[in-house]
Amino acid sequence: MADLSPKPDVIVVGGGIVGLSVGWQLLQDGVEAVVIDAAPGTGASHAAAGMLAPIHEAYWGESHILGLNLAASQAWPAFADQLGADAIDYCRNGMLMAAYSADDKALLDSLGDLHEQEGLPVQRLRSRECRRSEPLLAPSVRGGVYSPLDHHVNPRRVVAELLKRVPVIAVSAAEIARDQVVADDGRRVACQQVVVAAGAWTGRLLGVPVRPVKGQILRLSGPEGLLGLPVRGVVRGSSVYAVPRSDGEIVVGATQEEQGFDTRVTAGGVYELLRDVLALLPGLSEVDLVETWAGLRPGAPDNAPIIGAGDDGIVYATGHYRNGILTAPITAAAVAALVQGRRPPVDLSPFSPNRFDAMPAARLPDAEPLSGVAG
Ligand SMILES: Cc1cc2nc3c(=O)[nH]c(=O)nc-3n(C[C@H](O)[C@H](O)[C@H](O)COP(=O)(O)OP(=O)(O)OC[C@H]3O[C@@H](n4cnc5c(N)ncnc54)[C@H](O)[C@@H]3O)c2cc1C
Repeated sequence: MADLSPKPDVIVVGGGIVGLSVGWQLLQDGVEAVVIDAAPGTGASHAAAGMLAPIHEAYWGESHILGLNLAASQAWPAFADQLGADAIDYCRNGMLMAAYSADDKALLDSLGDLHEQEGLPVQRLRSRECRRSEPLLAPSVRGGVYSPLDHHVNPRRVVAELLKRVPVIAVSAAEIARDQVVADDGRRVACQQVVVAAGAWTGRLLGVPVRPVKGQILRLSGPEGLLGLPVRGVVRGSSVYAVPRSDGEIVVGATQEEQGFDTRVTAGGVYELLRDVLALLPGLSEVDLVETWAGLRPGAPDNAPIIGAGDDGIVYATGHYRNGILTAPITAAAVAALVQGRRPPVDLSPFSPNRFDAMPAARLPDAEPLSGVAG
């Protein structure tokens, strides 16, 4: 069996935003790292809207995830500065969550209560205040919650910038151990430490319970500045969001489907997204629909990421589910610290790969999908 390259210190399996961020952090720390991926940047990171939204992603019973997401949000400004905030379309003008009907408003009010209980900085807005913040909103909108801490970025541009900085070997990993990877063509790369960041595919490669959660998404294109704020909406009980880019593109998402490794875009999925986004933002009906897409979020049974060393000696950086764009920089900092024997910047104990050991096997793959807005 031939070696693929000179022996690096660390091999990162998976070149999505998480694996590339880990690789880049290691390189900046002086650790020789290489990423292995036959199709880097084509997974969930290509589908993602790019909301960096610890507040509007806060749900009941997920306070350990909230803590990580808040730390992740704090890590973003420095990460964006290093990559070039303009190059990645990093925008810090907050995010609005709006309720379409009276029932939707009741749901939003209870989310607002949760935000206040957790001490999160949010402003509740009346209908008219919502429309003043985002004039494209329908007059029927009943009210909303504005979060100044929730930001957004263009994940495709982040991945493109990372790919300029991190070496990638274009093969797929077929077998993985702590200190070597065998590629699907039989060649081998040895190293001191393997990190696995293969997103929704991690469960296929290794024994961790990561499943794919499908998300369909649309890209609209209109005049620059048409939509000023990212808007998440609850429309007759369904969830939808619209995230603007600086060039006039607007990403509309996202469905949340337990369909295995299916990435088909369906008529029903597109219909639901358009129905809800046009009810909320009727002015978008005249803009171009330029892309439909579907990606696979990597989901663990408890919806929390898997970050840390497993019993097998492999370091895991996966299961980032709805928030992998938000949490990539803090994951990279944590994994780089672990690999170098330093203390990670956040408590990783809730995210240990070994936390599923005691779980009955039948429960592992089937976490209930959340009914809220899906990132
Ligand atoms: C529709 C949608 C919208 C989203 N919106 C948001 C959002 O607004 N904000 C947010 O924070 N998150 C969002 N997410 C979630 C986010 O996209 C993911 O959590 C994140 O992209 C996960 O990154 P990753 O690098 O772990 O996985 P991926 O980006 O999926 O990358 C995994 C990589 O592993 C590679 N790989 C697989 N198998 C192998 C192998 N055998 N050998 C080598 N490489 C392999 C793949 O080719 C791929 O490049 C969204 C997701 C979806 C689907």
